[in-house]
Amino acid sequence: MSAANGERPQRPSAEPSLVTRAVRAGIGTDAAHHAVMPPIHLSSNYLFQSPGVYERYDYTRTANPTRDLAAAAIAELEGGCGAVVTSSGMAAVAVVTRLLSAGELLVAPHDCYGGCHRLFTAEDRRGAYRVRFVDQTRAGAVEAVRALRPRMIWLETPSNPLMRIAEIAAWARLAREVGAVCVADNTFLSPVNQRPLSLGADVVVHSTTKFINGHSDMVGGAAVAADEGLHEQLAWWANAMGVTGAPFDSFLTLRGVRTLHARSRVHEENALRVVDFLRSSDLVERVNHPSLPNHPGHEIARAQQLGWGSLLSFELRGGRPAVERFVDGLRHFALAESLGGVESLVSHPWTMTHASMDEPARVAAGIREGLLRLSVGIESAADLIADLELALRRTAAELVVA
Ligand SMILES: *Cc1c(COP(=O)(O)O)cnc(C)c1O
Repeated sequence: MSAANGERPQRPSAEPSLVTRAVRAGIGTDAAHHAVMPPIHLSSNYLFQSPGVYERYDYTRTANPTRDLAAAAIAELEGGCGAVVTSSGMAAVAVVTRLLSAGELLVAPHDCYGGCHRLFTAEDRRGAYRVRFVDQTRAGAVEAVRALRPRMIWLETPSNPLMRIAEIAAWARLAREVGAVCVADNTFLSPVNQRPLSLGADVVVHSTTKFINGHSDMVGGAAVAADEGLHEQLAWWANAMGVTGAPFDSFLTLRGVRTLHARSRVHEENALRVVDFLRSSDLVERVNHPSLPNHPGHEIARAQQLGWGSLLSFELRGGRPAVERFVDGLRHFALAESLGGVESLVSHPWTMTHASMDEPARVAAGIREGLLRLSVGIESAADLIADLELALRRTAAELVVA
């Protein structure tokens, strides 16, 4: 090549795409042995060259090379300034809410992730900060919250399990006006399908346990900051609280990032086919997925999302007896919590994720006994649909006989 005559070869194109950067994150960074794939640095401590001479790495709770690579990859995908990689999604939530002081108000969605609801409520009770849960999808909600002068606005869109859509740009605008920090939990879509920082959010939170790692074999989290000041504060708290992610989990996370775009394509393709199939079934009353034109958040989702995502829920006719027969008849959808892994899952919010809510609260939130949530995996779509079809047919037959 032209390098032979001392010239640098011309780069054929400018910046590589996010897909390429995700696949190649950290490749070729091993200065010691030139490993193609970056090694896992398990050491808890690092040599000082001399007293008082500080380098990037001294102690793994504070900073670790493997964790740094995972953080850089996630920050890049979200378009952030930097990321803090934590030991769980809830650890990332705890770190971000440390930005709040006593008396300051956090406004969060009334149907936010159960673990967030529990933490926010407990912190409010012990006076760490105040929390107010609101329906962020209701008309006039932004105006109503403006009067409350919140210090932090928490978003989670689409919501679980009804896939309700909040308008990120509208809430981010309000946050800017009142001087609040706008945080978006982007776990359900991943940066492949939604990039909240580009819509005005200040911080993105992830449970990397879900799509980013994507193989249901670790628990982790991340908080991505839009600017360096926020990133420094989050890194300070993560180190002070001792909730930074382990090197091995960081390695798994980075490995997950490499296939995130490729996996997401199959997830979505399969989910759209499952949605189509479920809508054609007489035993299914209603399907909740933002891709459907009759979904109340369809237009906002179309504008703010880059993809529809692979989580959906639907209402089975026949209530609890139908749910039990149907779930029992499935082979490829495992009855389990969590989401975003390569494997398809089915969950029953009434008895699982939302069981801790009292019955009137569940009903008020639109969660009924016949509601099921699917996390559609990357198996063959034909197998998944055949599985659903068979289970539905068996349910219908057994209910008629019963
Ligand atoms: C799972 C999840 C969390 C919590 O993450 P963990 O890794 O389980 O601690 C937070 N938010 C959402 C939307 C989640 O799905």
